Amino acid sequence: MDAVQIAQQVTSGELDPLEPVRAALERIERFDGDVRAFLRLNPRAEEEALRVKQRLAAGEALPLAGVPVAVKDNLTTRGLATTCASGVLADFVPPYDAAVVERLRAAGAVVVGKTNLDEFAMGSSTEHSHFGPTKNPWDLERVPGGSSGGSAAAVAAGYVPVALGSDTGGSVRQPAAFTGTLGFKPTYGRISRYGLVAFASSLDQVGSFARTTADLACVSRVLMGHDPRDATSLEAPLPRLEPDLGRARGYTLGLVRETLQEGNSPGVVGALERFRRLLEAEGVRFVEVSLPSLRHALAAYYLVATAEASSNLARYDGVHYGTRAGADDVHALMRRTREQGFGPEVKRRILMGTFALSSGYYDAYYGRALKVRRRIAGEFASAFAEVDLLVTPTTPTPAFRLGAKLDDPMEMYLSDVDTVAVNLAGLPALSLPAGFEEGLPIGVQLIAPALAEDRLFDLSELFERLTEGAYLQRAPLD
Ligand code: GLN
Repeated sequence: MDAVQIAQQVTSGELDPLEPVRAALERIERFDGDVRAFLRLNPRAEEEALRVKQRLAAGEALPLAGVPVAVKDNLTTRGLATTCASGVLADFVPPYDAAVVERLRAAGAVVVGKTNLDEFAMGSSTEHSHFGPTKNPWDLERVPGGSSGGSAAAVAAGYVPVALGSDTGGSVRQPAAFTGTLGFKPTYGRISRYGLVAFASSLDQVGSFARTTADLACVSRVLMGHDPRDATSLEAPLPRLEPDLGRARGYTLGLVRETLQEGNSPGVVGALERFRRLLEAEGVRFVEVSLPSLRHALAAYYLVATAEASSNLARYDGVHYGTRAGADDVHALMRRTREQGFGPEVKRRILMGTFALSSGYYDAYYGRALKVRRRIAGEFASAFAEVDLLVTPTTPTPAFRLGAKLDDPMEMYLSDVDTVAVNLAGLPALSLPAGFEEGLPIGVQLIAPALAEDRLFDLSELFERLTEGAYLQRAPLD
């Protein structure tokens, strides 16, 4: 059942909230030994489902009543370990819930567990996890994408109808594309990051996964809204999230020329062509637009993101919280804690970021990256003067094999080539499943102007109806 159905039936009393939670736990038990989407299950899940029943009986309206959800393990959960898939936080139990977890719980959802990720959300395959990789439920020899690979896999495997991730450079959209799920990243500031462990603060946003547009809209409605505990949280009015098919048919979509270059696999090219053909038949207009600075987006992203990461990760010193290595003096303690606690990719990022920020290199690297960032934002703004939404592939290829890019960081970084610019510009975007290549899902990315999330949901719903959800199936595990 999807989330909307569960919430309706639980609210009407047709379904006991324990049932969907138990069904999720059973399915996890059955398949997660292979998939390994979860790092940890919530031992109080059933207890929490019972609480939902009491709250409904007391007359509360709960938009996600009894809906089992999975939460990426870089979002804090009170009393339930939050590791960021890092050795440095392997035993860390937070004393508070992230704002989004609070909001889920207030809406009646039940957190069934915490999902795997690349350490501190740095990666594109979920292989950079201290606890081992997650497998793609569509093909257990392939990666689910990353860094929110565990959450994407949990939805694709049909454990839960919705899951939370975080998206700094594509970490919701890219795994959504690789697992045939919908993945949504809101406008920067739309969803509170209170309790999201910081990676690159000018880029990070909480996003979500689902298998229907209605579910994605439902959970997004619960998550969005101002939060004074997050200094970057917006006070803007919430977008209309009920999809409007009439509006969708009237949109003009801009295909971004720079993302249609060679390097896209045949399945990706085919999915985009079919996407266009089906929507044009409904009256949607397509034009081609050019954003010339996009070719610098990846370079700028990996400077800004690493620079901010090097600063954010300074707090893991073995003194305040997390793992502490034994040592005789405080400097050795910090050095050893960081040496032993961080994995190789995190160390690489800290080194790159520290280098980019160091005096003598600051202007040449970090300063220039900021200029590129401003230029990209400007080009997006000009494009949106002409079109309602932009369209690109989410990724140039479907999911790659486990291990295929592990020895070549540059290759790994290139799998984000179509997603990072969105974060640099702070825009909302959505990846929707739009095809298959040799049995592997393919995603198309829609990008909207800041605060215009409604357009993403309008078009996603229209495409879902046109294709009768053909690309939104769960992975064939059974
Ligand atoms: N794959 C990108 C990176 O490694 C994006 C990560 C993310 O969005 N958290 O930085």
